[in-house]
Amino acid sequence: MQAQPEASHYIDGAPAEDTAGERIEVIHPANGEVIAVVHAATPALIDRALDAASRAQADWAALRPVERGRILARAAALIRERNHELSVLETLDTGKPIQETLVADAASGADALEYFAGFAPTVAGQTIPQGRDFAYTLREPHGVCAGIGAWNYPMQIACWKAAPALAFGNAMVFKPSDLTPLSALKLAGILTEAGLPAGLFNVLQGAGTVGAALATDARVAKLSLTGSVPTGQKVYAAAAQGIRAVTMELGGKSPLIVFDDADLEDAVSGAILGNFYSAGQVCSNGTRVFVQRPLRDAFLARLAERTRAIRLGDPLDPETQMGPLASAAQMEKVLRHIEAARAEGARLVTGGARHGTTGCFVEPTIFADVTDDMEIAREEVFGPVMAVLDFDSEDEVLARANATPYGLSAGVFTRDLTRAHRMAAGLQAGTCWINAYNLTPLEMPFGGVKMSGVGRENGHAALEHYTRIKSVYVGMGPVDAPY
Ligand code: NDP
Repeated sequence: MQAQPEASHYIDGAPAEDTAGERIEVIHPANGEVIAVVHAATPALIDRALDAASRAQADWAALRPVERGRILARAAALIRERNHELSVLETLDTGKPIQETLVADAASGADALEYFAGFAPTVAGQTIPQGRDFAYTLREPHGVCAGIGAWNYPMQIACWKAAPALAFGNAMVFKPSDLTPLSALKLAGILTEAGLPAGLFNVLQGAGTVGAALATDARVAKLSLTGSVPTGQKVYAAAAQGIRAVTMELGGKSPLIVFDDADLEDAVSGAILGNFYSAGQVCSNGTRVFVQRPLRDAFLARLAERTRAIRLGDPLDPETQMGPLASAAQMEKVLRHIEAARAEGARLVTGGARHGTTGCFVEPTIFADVTDDMEIAREEVFGPVMAVLDFDSEDEVLARANATPYGLSAGVFTRDLTRAHRMAAGLQAGTCWINAYNLTPLEMPFGGVKMSGVGRENGHAALEHYTRIKSVYVGMGPVDAPY
């Protein structure tokens, strides 16, 4: 299995290489095989990418939005044509099963490009009458944006950042996670093929140091990070030095609340989707599953039955439902959390161990009798580990659900219409799902509150984060001066 790219980076419209940069082996986590080798960007390459982006941006911004949109729509069509090839690459890089990558990764990226291609021509300013004078506003791009991605949805994250940035007239330098460097390079090639002028979308490989170099460079006007809270704190602080605009899509410990009047099968489906999709490596996962006591035993029984039937295996096999974690380090971290949960007295319902001896597989794991103070209920695990907690009343569960520094997402399963909306109003989260979980259509803004982030991706809200407003006051004369 080889997935070696032509070169490590993509700068100024073409693949670029400098083997002086640190060697990064790209490993397929299902079997430990090295599928590619790339090199981290050297300071000279970082400089080239930022220069290329700065040079290209003004002409791009001067195009009619419909012309920019046409190029992005063409790129979306190319992604859809090549969805299978791109999905195989994403599966090799991340270990996620092909049945997921075929529908959730490049396809979501294409959605983003299509959505923002259509949105760009609709953007307009405001006219503000001032008697004989008037003012108007212009929506301007920031200039050069830096995007820094996590490893769980590499192609989707690259597209969710690049599509609005480019649609509204910015240039982007994107750094994928060093664990999953491959699909962003494909995106860059496709954008060029679709007609994107050179320099507008650049990809630089490397670990946190390359991200940090982007976060502190004076040429970067806006930073968008998808990653953990500790990284978010560093990147936000670096951005503050230059008073740069930021979007921070960070981690969570989201509550999924199941009332005793919920449809049991739907609630179990929501909990499984919200904990085991992508082997649990989803930022918005509902990893604290609160179940109202009268439903608890029936819920756990059905949940365990369906969880035990999940098929783990070769992620390239279309029948496989759960692949490995993205890296050995992540597998070790998840196994440590499982041990901590056991040690603290949580009751293991199913799973709880590594699966097999090859690759980074962890069994889908459910703990019951979890209490709010346990590590498993407080820390983001980012693996297939669900914590089930009991509750009695609506007020109690709302207070407990909100008692976390995170605020990315939340879910409620109930047939009571008014309670569902009361809960949605009270939950401290950027996204709330009612009788659903983890659906993130492009049309809906996505982001966090509290320590889960600032800013929103997708939907109309993205306009606020990839443009800035200029006010223009027009004096129609004469100028009224008191001196
Ligand atoms: P990390 O925070 O470890 O890394 C995110 C990115 O930031 C990587 O590209 C990383 O580089 C880079 N980075 C690390 N240090 C710095 C630094 N000092 N300056 C600039 N960039 C830096 O997250 P993971 O990749 O481990 O992803 C998992 C996390 O992402 C989870 O917490 C998850 O919840 C969150 N996430 C949030 C989402 C959201 O939309 N809210 C969606 C998906 C994930 P490298 O790793 O290559 O060293």
